[in-house]
Amino acid sequence: MTQKTLCPYCGVGCGLEVLPPAQPGKAVHRDSDGNPTWQVRGDRAHRSSKGMVCVKGATITESTEKNRLQYPLLRDSLSDSFRRVSWEEALDRIATEIKTVRLTHGSDGICMYGSGQLQTEDYYTAQKLLKGCLGTNNFDANSRLCMSSAVAGYMQSFGSDGPPCCYDDLEQTDCAFLIGTNTADCHPIVFNRLRKHHKRNRHVKMIVVDPRKTKTAEAADLHLAIKPGTDIDLLNGIAYLLMSWEKIETIFMDECTKDFSHYAEVIRHYPPALVARKCGITIDQLETAARYWANSERVLSLWSMGMNQSSEGTAKVRTLINLHLMTANIGKPGAGPFSLTGQPNAMGGREAGGLAHILPGYRMVKNPQHRATVEQAWHLPEGRINPNPGRDAWEMIRGLETGEVGLFWVAATNPAVSMPDIERTKKALLKSRFTVYQDAYYPTETAAYAHLVLPAAQWGEKTGIMTNSERVVTLCPAFRNPPGQAKADWEIFAEVGRRLGFTEQFSFTSSADVYQEFVELTRNRLCDMTGLSHERLQQEGAIQWPCPESETATVASGKRLYTDLRFPTNDGRAKFAAFHSNGLAEPEDENYPFVLTTGRLYGHWHTQTRTGHIPKITKMHPYPELEIHPRDAKNLGLEETKEEKWVEARSRRGKARFRVKITKAIAPGTIFIPMHWGALWADNAEANALTHPESCPISKQPELKACAVQLIPISDP
Ligand code: SF4
Repeated sequence: MTQKTLCPYCGVGCGLEVLPPAQPGKAVHRDSDGNPTWQVRGDRAHRSSKGMVCVKGATITESTEKNRLQYPLLRDSLSDSFRRVSWEEALDRIATEIKTVRLTHGSDGICMYGSGQLQTEDYYTAQKLLKGCLGTNNFDANSRLCMSSAVAGYMQSFGSDGPPCCYDDLEQTDCAFLIGTNTADCHPIVFNRLRKHHKRNRHVKMIVVDPRKTKTAEAADLHLAIKPGTDIDLLNGIAYLLMSWEKIETIFMDECTKDFSHYAEVIRHYPPALVARKCGITIDQLETAARYWANSERVLSLWSMGMNQSSEGTAKVRTLINLHLMTANIGKPGAGPFSLTGQPNAMGGREAGGLAHILPGYRMVKNPQHRATVEQAWHLPEGRINPNPGRDAWEMIRGLETGEVGLFWVAATNPAVSMPDIERTKKALLKSRFTVYQDAYYPTETAAYAHLVLPAAQWGEKTGIMTNSERVVTLCPAFRNPPGQAKADWEIFAEVGRRLGFTEQFSFTSSADVYQEFVELTRNRLCDMTGLSHERLQQEGAIQWPCPESETATVASGKRLYTDLRFPTNDGRAKFAAFHSNGLAEPEDENYPFVLTTGRLYGHWHTQTRTGHIPKITKMHPYPELEIHPRDAKNLGLEETKEEKWVEARSRRGKARFRVKITKAIAPGTIFIPMHWGALWADNAEANALTHPESCPISKQPELKACAVQLIPISDP
């Protein structure tokens, strides 16, 4: 029987239809190894993707067959070999370790590091265990490395998290402003929709801001190859021009926003000549960008890691939102600031409280009323939830270094590749007193640092919910059994909770039960999902939130937030905020003269735990290449010949070796390295051997996008 589900790779959230390997009258569908495997095709009825899929979605079932972890494995020390153990022994051991650490370190000695690969039910159960039952807010997710600056920007400007736009806006905009996003490669189906609209409508403009001439930039009417770290200067420079041309919406600002006057004072310091010089673009380019904004009724901004992964990520996001507020480009079709999430359920994680400073239903741990509501819902005593945010991702690594963290529990992510300053991360993991690694795959780079390894069921093997970047909620049903003894993540968390005595809190018998409890905590919140249930989603297909209980018929067209131009702040007004840029946390200098920027490739996903096993994708991207401009290559003595060239890239933290790709697509002075290769996939080619953990003081998102490096040509890799 055909199953409708969601692609579990990226935040675009494309609908899929999955069919069993054998279909009447057809040859058995097989993977590249010749084994029967489920077939996948795009779901034409899915509102977000309309039947489209990229290479990752099209090959997803092949990836779920390989390198699967099937049984719990345990060892007492990292120098021992693993031995297979029963679930009983594994779960008892975690419960014992938690009790021990609470005595020796306190509850804050326990940390869990999850990921946007988890389904909403997994996230929610983990929050209840950590933040509720154990009284520590030390749950963070790899979303911290991905979009926590967008969360903080929305929170501070609008009073709540939640992307205000929907994908239908891609086809209704007059001007798409893409900044810090290679959408064509990283969110391909979003880009397909935008590109079609752009091609069909001559008046529609596309501006792309990126130091690299990516596939996205090639499609643009205007490509602004700004110097890394000058985004705020550019955005303030556009604001300066809009203000001096009187292309601002004063009535909207008077009625719906506040703090414009201070912002207006600050942007007076950004005249075109200064901004163009700082950003490394021409005045004409800057004016063209501002003119496109000024002449468009509806401007839609899209962004992702290029803005978020920055030591001033929140300031960048808020500075972009300022432009929308001053031109009233929000709350109407085709307009608004729209962050694209990296992970398939990063949005569900945000809704369920899956970061160290938040609680379910877009609540904040610092807010006493929010804590009280959640404690009550969880039948826990008043004061159980810690009033302080827990450790963010990097603070967890710091806690391992200092010994303040006594139990580190990793679920569905691979920090031994994805964290900044990877050698320091690995040293910290080596010092861990007890690490639990819960994942679908084995081996991985992080499993090598674990004491206890738990096999998790994954997409297609457990039933749960995922929310994509446009707030569309899709039920992902189980359509086959998990391999070996693998269990759903939420079941593992619940079983540990029950072993710790929280039987009432973890009496769920299905993920549908978990979801019903979760949606109650969204009642009357911006992300109200009380009208949703597994049953309804099964019957009606994907539904976009907000979807309160009162909304019984599915709304077919895309919903936007803030259409009434009221915002969830105390006074209902959105807030301007003025920022000057501090530039990069580690700018280039005499010793380290290049700025390294990192990013994704079209075919690969994160640390390759899935895509590294798919021949079609590994053929597409067989190894990592360092991109460098011909002028820089020449200065290093790397002539453009057919011969393979290699360089060693060195930063203040580490070094790595790469084949060189000489290309004018990258600006002089900047180099690019893809982030997908960990120690399992290539020798000494880890991008994060070079990166640093300096982060945004508000969002705590590390500046993975930029650091200073030197390059040494080498002959022998
Ligand atoms: Fe999956 Fe993202 Fe590709 Fe869609 S664009 S098929 S969600 S990886």
